[in-house]
Parts: sequence; structure tokens; C-alpha cells
Amino acid sequence: SQPFDVDLIRSQFPSLQLTVNDRPLIYFDSAATSQKPACVIDAINNHYSGGQANVHRGSHSLTSASTQRFENARQTVADFLNVSKDTIVWTRGATEALNLIAQSCARNSLQPGDEILVSEMEHHANIVPWQLVAEQTGAEVVKIPVVRETCQLDMQAFYERLSDKTKLVAVCHINNVTGTRNPIEEIIQSAHRIGAITVIDGAQGIVHETPDLTDLGADFYVFSGHKLFAPAGIGVLYGKKALLDAMPPWHGGGKMVEKVSFEGTDFASSPAKFEAGTPNVAGAIALAEAITWYQAIDLKHAELHISNLQRQLYEGLSKLEDIRIIGYQPGSSILSFVMDGVHPSDIATLLDQQGIAARSGHHCAHPLMDALNLSGTVRISLAIYNTAEEVTQCLEALEKACDIL
Ligand code: PMP
Repeated sequence: SQPFDVDLIRSQFPSLQLTVNDRPLIYFDSAATSQKPACVIDAINNHYSGGQANVHRGSHSLTSASTQRFENARQTVADFLNVSKDTIVWTRGATEALNLIAQSCARNSLQPGDEILVSEMEHHANIVPWQLVAEQTGAEVVKIPVVRETCQLDMQAFYERLSDKTKLVAVCHINNVTGTRNPIEEIIQSAHRIGAITVIDGAQGIVHETPDLTDLGADFYVFSGHKLFAPAGIGVLYGKKALLDAMPPWHGGGKMVEKVSFEGTDFASSPAKFEAGTPNVAGAIALAEAITWYQAIDLKHAELHISNLQRQLYEGLSKLEDIRIIGYQPGSSILSFVMDGVHPSDIATLLDQQGIAARSGHHCAHPLMDALNLSGTVRISLAIYNTAEEVTQCLEALEKACDIL
């Protein structure tokens, strides 16, 4: 791979040339969604301008070529994760993938008295689908608490709650508020020892640590394309082949069937069984392009670059008396903070006036906010295209904000 060069990376992102409120854009909201490199934008354009057609339908040349590109994209994702192609199901994103697992796998295997262990630091996308399926099956959602001081999972509590009632364990790889990296390897092994199914929400994790899913052994791993430099509307569900094969479809429609008659319908095998209707072909192709682009980067040095920026930010913020950092995770790409007595959105608005895009609010993690006794935080999330100068400018803007607010 090419040596890591942030200027070279930046030059590949047209949107990073924008000005916002008459200032050069400083984009510090990549955990919400990433900006897109030109090659990904071109891949979408080329798909639509280069003669596209529907996939897995008919036999004319355009449909064959589109089907080939669509299935090649699935292979790219499978190779990226070191799993076989038939374990990769296209979804709209992490949220849809988690709902698919809940409504197909969990809904058909859970019974009253069964328990679903879910961590307190989860995004709502990894909580609400489990609550819905608990309601439908009579199972119960049991919380794995976080340790307030560290914003890390309380592993002792996890072991206390793990029992023969536990049928499913759902945790994130990396959390979206503090950047906490969970000990997913240990969680997966312990859950498997008692026969529970493991679901890893990789929405944040996939961007900073490429998992070898064969090695990791999770039953399910999900992520969204849009956080990994691809467009929104495409995501991935990885599932172990035996589990996918045993799961019933959750949506009905075209392409997920072998034979339909009014007497009954034979379903296709997975992954087609879970992909009813015309899929997001351009999205899948663009995600494969994003992955290919990402893999050509010297990721070891890219991650070092990001963690250096995060440390610079941490050290700068630590000098500002009014600012309280929440659950600092050294080495991560995320930093959350609050200013006591000031609404996070007021800080984000002041930053925005300086062209700095930072996220404020509860980050779709109400239970974590409740555990930390906060209504929200300001979150700065860094990506490979950010620079030390941007961090310096943000720190200057925050110093001014402290004076104003
Ligand atoms: N899980 C985590 C940890 C996330 O950060 C997000 C996105 N903020 C999601 C799940 C949901 O992803 P999406 O909205 O793309 O489906």
C-alpha cells in the first residue's frame, strides 16, 4: 500500500474543499457519516451512465453485466471480512440488518423466559429491535451495564447476567459516543460457551479495525456502507451459513423465491432468501469501490494518525477548565465532552459558525446518556482525512466558546 499521506487523501474528497459559513469546512462528524472519495462518487455515476439494468433478471447483456458487478461487489465484501460470499446479505444499513436478525432468527427461536443480553452503551438500532422481538416472543431484554467512570462495559456484571437463560448477546464493536472498544472476542467466546447467539454491531468498528470474521467467530456482524466512505442505503449483514440457512425469510417478494404458486412458495437459498425486491445495485458497487479504495491505504499509519489527532484534542481540551471530557478512550477516533450548564447544541452552533461540523445531542444512545446522567454531549469524531491544523482550529474555537458561554 501507498505510504499514508493526509494531503493526498484529502485531495480525493471533493466535499472537503467546501466552505461553510465562509470558513473552510472542518468535518468532525464522520461517526455519523463519512465524506465520500471521488472514486466512490464516480462508481455511482459510472453505474448509471454506463448502461445499468436490473440484476438477476432476464438474459440481455446489460442485466448480465449489472448482475456480474453486483455479485463481484458481494465477493469484495466477503474477501474484506475473510468469509465466503454466500454469508453476505445486502441490507439498507446496520439498522435493517439488526432488524433482520431480530425478526428472522430471534423471533423464530426465542421463548418466554429466554433472555437477550444487550449492553447499555448501544445505539438505539441495537436495542429497539430486541425490545420488539422480546414483546413478540415473551423473551426479556437484560442490560449489561457500563462502568460510569470509564464508559466501558462492566464485564463482571456481564458474567453475572450470562446464564442458561441467555439466548442472544448483542454488543457493539466500537461505541459511537465515546469510541469505547468492547472486548468482543471475550464476549463472543463466553456467550458461545453457553450456546447463545452473538450479534456484533460493527457500524463504528468496521471503519477502524477490519475484522477477520472467520477468526472472530461472531454469529452475526453488521455494518452500514455510509460510515465506510460509501453511500447511504447500502449495508451488510454477515451471518454464519448454517444460521442463515435455518432462518426463515422476513420480507417476501421477487428474487427471494425458487417457485411461487398459490399452493405455496419455495424460497431461494441465502443470501437471496433475504433480498426481496430490486436491490440497491449502485450502492453495493459503490461500497465495493469504497472498500477497495480503503484497503489500498496504509491503514496502520492512518489509524496512528487518527489516534494522534485524538490525543492532541484530548490534551487541548484538558486545558480548558469549563470542559469535561466524557469517558476518554485513548487511541480511539471519538471524543465526547460537555460544558456544565451549557447545552451541547449551543457549543455545536458556535463551532458551526467557524465552519466546524461537530455532533451534539444524545447520539441515539438514551440509555448510555441516562447511565452517565447527561442529556447529551458534543462529539468530535475524526477520520483519516482530518489534520492537526483542523484540531488546533477547533481547540481555538472552543476556547472562545468557553469565554462566550
Ligand atoms: N450502531 C452504531 C454504533 C451506530 O453508530 C449507528 C449509526 N449512528 C448505527 C448502529 C445505525 O446505523 P444506520 O443508521 O446506518 O443503520
